[in-house]
Amino acid sequence: MVAAPQINVQKAETSKLQSFSFENLPFGKYFTDHMLEADYEDGEWKNIEIKPYQPLLLDPSTAAIHYGQAIFEGIKAYKDNEGNAFIFRPIDNYKRFNISAERLRMPPVPEEVFMEGMRLLVQIDKNWIPNQDDHSLYIRPFMFSTEATLGVKPSDSYKFMIILSPTGPYYSKPMRIYVEEKFSRAAPGGIGFAKAAGNYASSLLPAAEAHKLGYDQVLWTDAVEHKYVQEIGTMNVFFIIGNKAYTPELTSGTILAGVTRDSAITILKEMGFEIIEDRISIDDVIKAHKAGELREVFGTGTAATISPIKELRYKDYVMEFDVSKWIVSPELKRNLNDIRNSKVADRFGWMFRV
Ligand code: PMP
Repeated sequence: MVAAPQINVQKAETSKLQSFSFENLPFGKYFTDHMLEADYEDGEWKNIEIKPYQPLLLDPSTAAIHYGQAIFEGIKAYKDNEGNAFIFRPIDNYKRFNISAERLRMPPVPEEVFMEGMRLLVQIDKNWIPNQDDHSLYIRPFMFSTEATLGVKPSDSYKFMIILSPTGPYYSKPMRIYVEEKFSRAAPGGIGFAKAAGNYASSLLPAAEAHKLGYDQVLWTDAVEHKYVQEIGTMNVFFIIGNKAYTPELTSGTILAGVTRDSAITILKEMGFEIIEDRISIDDVIKAHKAGELREVFGTGTAATISPIKELRYKDYVMEFDVSKWIVSPELKRNLNDIRNSKVADRFGWMFRV
């Protein structure tokens, strides 16, 4: 057990809930009444506060704005039928957060600040967790450098914050995906394994070019040969070939280790699949498709859960799928959602009680 940190709580005088509609919630647009804020100064974390959600006042020379020393996480909270709140696998996100922090030369956030801060914040704003099926409260922890300087160096001060956003069902409409072979997301030795703000900035132009061709997202390939598949937008990728589930291995350091990826591996094993984590070349995917063995292709991520891919295009070769006939990924999604919505026992110990 880690000691509970001193967290000062200043409650909002009025709640925005009274005038809030949970109908047709877009992702990440509305925020709850409170936020958590903590400062790293003189080598320690201080001023840990939960306070009314409000804008920040920043010096124009704030380092993060110029050099992108900024990381984040994405987590979801749910309610069971009795109204108890649970957070899905937050410890795994906490560990990944500090892996990102280390790579960006930022101080680690102590477990008690991250976990107890998040627990208390979610508890205070518990009424913002939607009751409807397929809804959840999206939790966004983030950290950025705050030193007011234009010098390129690790900042000597940082802000760690958590904000909460109620979200509706993410209609995982089957996606059309373009296999990227010009742009790269992450190179060996780079920051691909970190949830760093800059990774997302650099993905916007390639995604926009894919949109112009009618595709929803790109499937990244490795930066060296553009031959091995990596991940999609904000999702890891899986291929069901015969009775095996293939997903790119993580050792290259160029892929984010998704918590949903790990959950999918666990559940797919339970469903009887052999899991192959390996380098997967696009040529092998095409070979499996030509042989009629490529059954399903899907993405996994916190926002979309399990997202089917109905078309995958590599150069001029187009692979199309009738997703209405798929059975593996719909079952995987059902199994995962049943755990997250407390419809079945939490047999893997993934639900963290608020
Ligand atoms: N890859 C990237 C680049 C992502 O941003 C995300 C979303 N966090 C994922 C994969 C999936 O990770 P998770 O399952 O932890 O949401």
